[in-house]
Amino acid sequence: MTKLHIVHIYPNEMNTYGDRGNLLVLERRAQWQGLEPAIRYYSAGDPFPKEADLILGGGGQDSAQADIQADILRIGDKLRQLVDADVPMLMVCGTYQLFGNRFMTSLGEEIKGIGIFDVETKGDPKRLIGNVAIETEEFGTLYGFENHSGKTFLGPNQQPFGTITRGSGNNGQDKTEGARRHNAVGTYLHGPLLPNNPQFADWLIATALHRKGVSFAPKRLDEMLTAQARANAVARGY
Ligand code: GLN
Repeated sequence: MTKLHIVHIYPNEMNTYGDRGNLLVLERRAQWQGLEPAIRYYSAGDPFPKEADLILGGGGQDSAQADIQADILRIGDKLRQLVDADVPMLMVCGTYQLFGNRFMTSLGEEIKGIGIFDVETKGDPKRLIGNVAIETEEFGTLYGFENHSGKTFLGPNQQPFGTITRGSGNNGQDKTEGARRHNAVGTYLHGPLLPNNPQFADWLIATALHRKGVSFAPKRLDEMLTAQARANAVARGY
């Protein structure tokens, strides 16, 4: 059976709003496709796992981001190499911010990031909270939920992940949501994101396999529950 090595970074510190659900979706959909998911958790101080086909990170409080700052800077070069080698990654909210250049919290504290995405985040006392819909070229409409004090601004050549059609996204001003570099995606979308957006989950899996030279034609799955979840997201409004 083909193994799919999934690395979940900072699972204890960076796991707000059920972001661990993204891991569960990838694990289960990989199994349904006849793959053998192998999950590794990476925590501060660990050696970085040798095999990493797909990497996930979740949201976290400002204080948790400060706690892991030194460690993520330590593994920043490794993560950058993996992004440049086209490894698919999904980084949500707090970890997305740490994949940027820096986060200035609303208390004026600077949390340095690893600069994979050319973005900068500034904390604002007014949080951006609510349901989100975005349009993406590759995955169509994606639905999620956001709750962040940080407002993120893209550098001039930084590609966003999508365009906001509902909610606030990066900063509530320019209609951009998230960031993308190669196959690495940063986004504010919780929900968690992948149960509502299986087409994106399957892309992460397929991209991970193609990268290692495994040809993969996903079989059709029963999408009754995901179709219901998406219909509910459409109906939910702001
Ligand atoms: N602490 C960050 C903010 O509020 C990230 C929040 C989160 O990950 N949900 O901007």
